Amino acid sequence: MAVKHDIDGPVRSRRRAIRKHLLEWYREARRTLPWRDAGDPYAIWVSEIMLQQTQVRAVIPYFDRFMTRFPTIESLAAAPLEEVLSLWKGLGYYGRARNLHRGAIEACRRYRGRLPADPAELLRLPGIGPYTCGAISSMAFGVPVPVVDGNVIRVLCRLFGLDEDPTSYQVKKRLWRWAGILVPEQDPGTFNQAMMELGALVCVRRRPDCSRCPLEPLCDATRLPDPGVLPVRPRKRVRPEIRAVSLVIHDPASDALLFGRRPPRGLLGGMWELPTGGARWEEPVEEAARRVALRRFGMDLHPQALPERVVHVFTHLRLSLDVAICREVPPHLSTADAGPGDSREGAVAGCSPGPFDVAYQAYRWVARQEWETLPMGRSTGKVLDILPLASPRR
Ligand code: SF4
Repeated sequence: MAVKHDIDGPVRSRRRAIRKHLLEWYREARRTLPWRDAGDPYAIWVSEIMLQQTQVRAVIPYFDRFMTRFPTIESLAAAPLEEVLSLWKGLGYYGRARNLHRGAIEACRRYRGRLPADPAELLRLPGIGPYTCGAISSMAFGVPVPVVDGNVIRVLCRLFGLDEDPTSYQVKKRLWRWAGILVPEQDPGTFNQAMMELGALVCVRRRPDCSRCPLEPLCDATRLPDPGVLPVRPRKRVRPEIRAVSLVIHDPASDALLFGRRPPRGLLGGMWELPTGGARWEEPVEEAARRVALRRFGMDLHPQALPERVVHVFTHLRLSLDVAICREVPPHLSTADAGPGDSREGAVAGCSPGPFDVAYQAYRWVARQEWETLPMGRSTGKVLDILPLASPRR
């Protein structure tokens, strides 16, 4: 009879030693971070959401500003989404900010402005997935549940010599199970932070510093010529490329530009951008810009193309953005308040509407001094940076 291989055996047999070595190292090596140690579930929540896809160093100033302006869940829930997006500007992945805001509103409605300690309840809040739930539950409430982020995946794959694709469903499940075996009943939050800290400081992506690693005697990857080959890299995703054109409509009297607000859901939801529309690859910039102006404003604004093109890479697509300057102002939007948005989405003839053919919810003139605080995506910021308007932006 075949003997069944126990794939969790090495995790169980090494767990005591791993906990001991890791926690000893963490006491000495841990960084001082503004969200650590306070045990404030809300601060942990905000920090964990900001840290998704973003480096610690970049997050710290955003976290400080955010917590100063919104020190409690109630204050966040009471704020307009636009202000939340404005404080998030530059961090990217704006869906995180929208979900955090929705989550705060839900937490006020269901839990009187507190986060529940029960992981199952936490998971019901918008934007809280297994990772954030594990972080809040273990760090703020001492619930012995695991946390598995990119750092932990790297450490686990190397520690146990796992050479399978960690993005596959089965392997992900196994990694969560292993992390669950390792996490101790006592002070699980510190253990989880220690695992993440090891991945961030020592067991780093390309060149793990094994000579400084407290887990070196326990680690399978040290038997390889290069432990950095683990985890196995999933095959690279090819991002589709799309093209769009933005219209620069400038009012020299007030030194303001016309912006449109995108719908609340989807790519760059709720953010402001220069009036933009999708374009065909072979379409000359001015032709595409005229078509976008006709569609959005019902008039020909005689746009003139700028020679520069902005390229911006989103998680799932690559955008090539041309820019055209219009010398006229649509008469129905000439008042200081501009006006309501478009009645419907548009599209290039013969194509289905793309992410830049959305109907705007509103139009607004925004003076130069407000551009810095207006919630807008990085692609719009890049366009503003190349504009040859009278006084330079920088
Ligand atoms: S010994 Fe090297 S590969 Fe193994 S966990 Fe430590 S740093 Fe990572």
